[in-house]
Amino acid sequence: MKSHLIFIGAPGSGKGTQASRLVSEKGFKHISTGDLLRTEIAKQSPLGLEVKKVMDEGQLVSDELVIRLLQANIDLAASQYIFDGYPRNIAQAETLDREVLKGSPSLAVYFDMDIAKLVERLTNRRTCKNCGAIYNLITKKPKVMGICDKCGGTELVQRADDKEEVIKSRLQVFQDTVNPVIKYYQDLGRLVRVDAEGSVDEIFNLISSKV
Ligand SMILES: [Zn+2]
Repeated sequence: MKSHLIFIGAPGSGKGTQASRLVSEKGFKHISTGDLLRTEIAKQSPLGLEVKKVMDEGQLVSDELVIRLLQANIDLAASQYIFDGYPRNIAQAETLDREVLKGSPSLAVYFDMDIAKLVERLTNRRTCKNCGAIYNLITKKPKVMGICDKCGGTELVQRADDKEEVIKSRLQVFQDTVNPVIKYYQDLGRLVRVDAEGSVDEIFNLISSKV
């Protein structure tokens, strides 16, 4: 039986790369709640207008709204989905199971990586000041050092939120938040733990073998 996937991983863990490959090579649909919110607002659907009102008022979009957004935009029988960036806590995980997945087979994939390694990856991130293209001095170098492949820009800079101390504290918060979610799926026998330091191909093959 085909499983939907729930991706859990810190920024820099490589989950975005795997999601792209699963979409292009295995036909998965990638669900990011942030994208869904923006699309729904752009559609000006009744739900989108409701979301816009909440956001305009500076409120957080409630779990209940996110769930309705998911219900309105996915067809579990027709497609295989990757849920990315959601759920972020146990309440959301339970609600996703109860209100959206409703017993459809699903696996949580946790991209496990040492925080020190993540810090190293993330502090090597550089952004093109001109076009916003993202590089990594270790894993995704520009073809010519210091020059953007896409626009030829010569300023590849480190963003303020890519500084080491900021990254460390952001990752610690992330880890503390997702640990209970990981345990939730583990206790249900639905967790696949991936060594996020493995190669892109190794990780891709492992995930592919589970779905
Ligand atoms: Zn550029």
